[in-house]
Amino acid sequence: MSDFLLPPASVTLAGHAVTPIAWGMWRFAGVDVATARARIDAAFEAGVTLFDTADIYGCDTPGGFGSAEALLGDVFADAPGLRDTMVLATKGGIILGVPYDSSAPYLTSAIDISLRRLRTDHVELWQIHRPDLLTHPQESARALEDAHGAGKIGAIGVSNFTPAQTAALAKFLPVPLVSHQSEFSPLHLAPLFDGIFDQTMGEGMSFLAWSPLGGGRLGDPKDERAQAIAALLDAKATEYGVSRAAATYSWVMAHPAHPIPIVGTQNPDRIKDIPQAFVPRWTRAEWYALLQTSMGENLP
Ligand code: NAP
Repeated sequence: MSDFLLPPASVTLAGHAVTPIAWGMWRFAGVDVATARARIDAAFEAGVTLFDTADIYGCDTPGGFGSAEALLGDVFADAPGLRDTMVLATKGGIILGVPYDSSAPYLTSAIDISLRRLRTDHVELWQIHRPDLLTHPQESARALEDAHGAGKIGAIGVSNFTPAQTAALAKFLPVPLVSHQSEFSPLHLAPLFDGIFDQTMGEGMSFLAWSPLGGGRLGDPKDERAQAIAALLDAKATEYGVSRAAATYSWVMAHPAHPIPIVGTQNPDRIKDIPQAFVPRWTRAEWYALLQTSMGENLP
């Protein structure tokens, strides 16, 4: 038995074998097609096969709601065949100013409009972006079942759901919920303790970790806690000759739920370094030491 916590070489998501690091498009919109394509090419060259977007991404840019999906659709239009080489995940259900709608008519129309923007007839994974407290899960399930049956969405996942919300939705679906997507990083530990990782493992789901660098805070740690975490990450990075970001992704991937970090950098040079994340090895004691530094206390 290895003394190290080893990340898997690949994971299965929605029936597809993917490299266990994804690339995300929250910060993607607002550039021209050539710039967007260069980022996607860099991700492919780094071995990424799973790409994550959402209908709301780009809402903070002049293109507004839908512009990140539309930009990716433009990239596909410019590069025939590219779409078929990726496992594509998107999400919907957030509306600025509402803020959530997972009613059947809304989800049905959100999925159709996303596919039009993306210029594709299906996505491999479609995720409810945040739980809508005002829709009965049976109603959301009906819309998702229809879209799945029509081949528009290959699999269904949830994002920012509690385990109980997930179980309630799953109860009304004829197909399994395949994935959770929640924030997880050395700065944000909730899935370890709120039952999300337990459900992920118990139900055989995949876990996508959003903001694996704490939304960039681990790139430029400002407060004492982030600096203490960064110091341990830097020690691991130096030991293996990799970047701090790579050491961070490797810590995230070391958990037995096999979290898939969704890398958020839009810088092709940083994207290029993704494979470094498979180099560092953590012992059990080192992994716990970083956890306890983040918690600010020792486990009992
Ligand atoms: P992140 O990897 O934690 O942060 C990326 C940000 O950190 C970028 O702005 C990047 O800037 C910056 N950064 C600073 N130093 C860096 C370094 N040394 N290496 C790499 N990046 C560094 O991830 P995120 O962008 O917050 O989120 C990643 C993905 O998670 C999103 O694209 C989206 O797909 C998903 N997400 C999902 C939800 C949800 O509710 N489901 C919420 C948030 C995010 P540069 O671009 O300049 O490198």
